[in-house]
Amino acid sequence: GVRISQGRIDIQSLKFGYTPDRPVIHDLSLTIPAGAFYGVVGHTGSGKSTLLSLLLRFYTAQSGSIQLDGVPLAHFGDEDFRADVGLVPQEPFLLAASVRENIDMGRGLSDAEIETAARAARCHDFVLALEQGYTTPLGEGGARLSVGQKQLIAIARALAGKPRILFLDEATAHIDSETEQVVQLALAELRGKVTIIAIAHRLSTIRDADRIIVLNHGHIDEQGSHEAL
Ligand code: ATP
Ligand code: MG
Repeated sequence: GVRISQGRIDIQSLKFGYTPDRPVIHDLSLTIPAGAFYGVVGHTGSGKSTLLSLLLRFYTAQSGSIQLDGVPLAHFGDEDFRADVGLVPQEPFLLAASVRENIDMGRGLSDAEIETAARAARCHDFVLALEQGYTTPLGEGGARLSVGQKQLIAIARALAGKPRILFLDEATAHIDSETEQVVQLALAELRGKVTIIAIAHRLSTIRDADRIIVLNHGHIDEQGSHEAL
């Protein structure tokens, strides 16, 4: 099948609505160079998560196109697509299983691969501080993690698949500023290695982004650097 080797994203005149009469994304065009780090901000309901859902093929656009490395989204096989495109969702879910299993997700990764991903996601240190380290049970009845810590586990999970493209939908609620800073550092470290689109609720999370997109009613209102906005 076709694999994503570079990670360039081309979005052309995208239009989508959950119901045909009410467009949530409209007239949205955007090109993201391979390896770039783009941040997306916008008020609640502006279509940020919907845009990621379209990029992830959870929904199909009514018109317009999305291409990755010049290849239409529909041309990728499911398995290759899942391997090459990582997602850190707005509300990460944890399995009732160990930290290790939550990062591995049945992919049969080695301990070294798990740890490398955890280090890149900046969660290695807090995992080691848990009672049983990587074998500590999480999820229902497991160790209680903050929303931010769950996101870091979700980042490690996404990175463990060595994706070319990473989408991150920052958790809305209750991220303490320390965790938020760690997410910011994790993103900074990934810079240039994968193409990143990170939705943020605070501009500080995407301070290091190459470019910040301001979404307003499903349309790009403005774009520029952190300093320019
Ligand atoms: P937030 O900052 O709160 O996460 P967002 O920018 O991610 O907001 P979306 O979740 O993309 O916004 O929602 C955009 C619009 O689409 C909103 O009006 C929302 O109510 C609507 N919407 C989102 N998901 C669905 C769905 N599954 N079915 C119908 N409407 C939806
Ligand atoms: Mg959202």
